[in-house]
Amino acid sequence: MKRLADLTFDNSFSRLPAGMHARVRPTPLQGAHLASLSPAAAALLELSPDSLREQEAVAALSGSQLLPGMDPIAMCYAGHQFGHYVPQLGDGRALVLGEVLTAGGARWELQLKGGGLTPFSRDGDGRAVLRSTIREYLCSEAMHGLGIPTTRALCLFGSDEEVYRERIERGALLVRMAPSHVRFGSFEVFYHRQQYRELQQLADYVIDHDFPDLRDCERPYLALLREVVGRTARLMAQWQLAGFAHGVMNTDNMSILGLTLDYGPFGFIDAYDPGFVCNHSDHRGRYAFDQQPSVGLWNLTCLAQALLPLLDADDADASVEQARDALADYEPAFAAAYVSGMRAKLGLREAHPDDPALAASLLDLMAVSGVDYTNLFRDLAALCLDEAASATPLRDRFIDRPAFDAWADDYRARLRAEGSGDATRAAVMRSVNPRYVLRNYLAQQAIERAEQGDYSEVDCLLDLLSRPFEEQPERQGYAAEPPDWGRRLEVSCSS
Ligand code: AMP
Ligand code: MG
Repeated sequence: MKRLADLTFDNSFSRLPAGMHARVRPTPLQGAHLASLSPAAAALLELSPDSLREQEAVAALSGSQLLPGMDPIAMCYAGHQFGHYVPQLGDGRALVLGEVLTAGGARWELQLKGGGLTPFSRDGDGRAVLRSTIREYLCSEAMHGLGIPTTRALCLFGSDEEVYRERIERGALLVRMAPSHVRFGSFEVFYHRQQYRELQQLADYVIDHDFPDLRDCERPYLALLREVVGRTARLMAQWQLAGFAHGVMNTDNMSILGLTLDYGPFGFIDAYDPGFVCNHSDHRGRYAFDQQPSVGLWNLTCLAQALLPLLDADDADASVEQARDALADYEPAFAAAYVSGMRAKLGLREAHPDDPALAASLLDLMAVSGVDYTNLFRDLAALCLDEAASATPLRDRFIDRPAFDAWADDYRARLRAEGSGDATRAAVMRSVNPRYVLRNYLAQQAIERAEQGDYSEVDCLLDLLSRPFEEQPERQGYAAEPPDWGRRLEVSCSS
C-alpha cells in the first residue's frame, strides 16, 4: 500500500491540443479538513486509506499544493440541457489533477469537484456545497455497491469557506475518480463548432485510452458509437431495475464509458411511482423515472450526430445510415438487459415470453398502492410456493389484496413450472435485490449532522451502502420507508 506522493501520475488528456481543455490551478479551499474517505476507492489506487489523512495528502487533494507529476486542467465540453443545445459549458468547477497509473495497469483520472474557478466557470463560483458533495460522495459508492457502473469517490473535504446559494453554506470538495470523465458533450462541442480535426483527435484519444480493442476494427469510430450505445442501454436498464432516477440527464452528464456521472438531484424511488420526478426544477418531467430509457436514446442520437463527420468522411448519407444502424441496437439492448434483470429480481431461472408481462403487472399493482420499491422486491424472496395465497404478509402492502393474490398465483405457477426451490431462490433473489439504498431521507439526515460538524452518519452510510445486499441487523432501521417529512423531499439543482 502506497502514500499519495508515491503514486505515478500521467496527464494524457492535458497533452491533447489546447482548446480541448484549459490549464488551471486549483484554488485552495480555506480551512479544508478531511471529512470522510472511501477505503474501497483508495484500494483501487493501491493507496493506504490512512495515508489520505497525512498533511501532504490533504494539501494535495484539497487544492493547496500540487504533487510532482500533476498537470491540472479543466475539460471543455458543451451539451444539450433540457433539450436545448448550450454551446459551451466545460468544467466550471471540476479539475483533473492527473491520472494515477497503478502497478496493476489501471488508469484513474482524479478530479477535484469544487476546486475553484476555471475559464469555464461563467457566473459560478467554482465551488460546491457540503450537502451536494455528500450526496455525490455517498451515491457514487452506493451505486458501485449495487453493481452499477459509476464514477467513484475517493474522499470528501469540508471547509470554513462560505459559499452563497439560496443561503450561506459551507464549501466542500469531492475527489472523484474514473478511467475517464469524457462526456457526450465533449464531442458535441467540436461538432457544432465544425472543428472536425479536434473531434477526430478526441475520438482517437478515447479509443486509444479506453477502448483499445476497437482500434483494429474496420470502422473504429462506428465501433465506438456502437460500444457507447450498448453501454448506455445496459446502464439505463440498471437504473430502472434499481429504481434510480438521475434527475439531470443532459448530454453533458452522460459518460462516454457508460458510467453514472454527475450526481445532482437524483433519487431512489421509495413508494413506486413510474412518473417520479426527483429534480425540483424539472417542471415538465422531462427526466422522470420512466422517461430515462428514451432519454438515453435521445442523448445517444446527439452523440451520433456529433460523430457523423467521422463515420464516413466522404459520404454524408452513408454516415447517417451507419449512425441509424448503430442507434437501432439501443432498444433491443435495453429490453434484453431489463428483462433479464427483472427475471433475476423475481428469482426466475428460465426465460419465458410472458416474463415482461409478469413483471409489468406487479409494477402496475405497486404503482396503484404506492408500494415501497426496494422493500417489496427484497421481501418477495420470502414468498413460499406451498403457502396459501392469502398467507403471505406481502399482500397487506397492496390496496387491492385479491389482485395481488391473483398475481402471486401466476407467479407461483411460473416458479413451479421451472422447478424452483424456496431456499435457493430466496438466496439468489437476496443477492440482486438490495436491502439498503441511499434514500433521500437517509442522505438528508447525514447532511444535517455533517452541517453541524459531525460526519459519523456519512461514514455509517458509506459502510452500510458498500454492502447493500447483506442484512445488517444492527442497522435494520436504515431499510425503513421514509418518515412523513422525508417522503417527497424536493432536491434543488443548486449545488
Ligand atoms: P452540473 O449541473 O453540476 O452538471 O453543472 C452544469 C454546468 O455548470 C457544468 O459545466 C458545471 O461545471 C457548471 N457549474 C455548476 N456549478 C458551478 C459553480 N458553482 N461554479 C462554476 N461552474 C459551475
Ligand atoms: Mg454536469
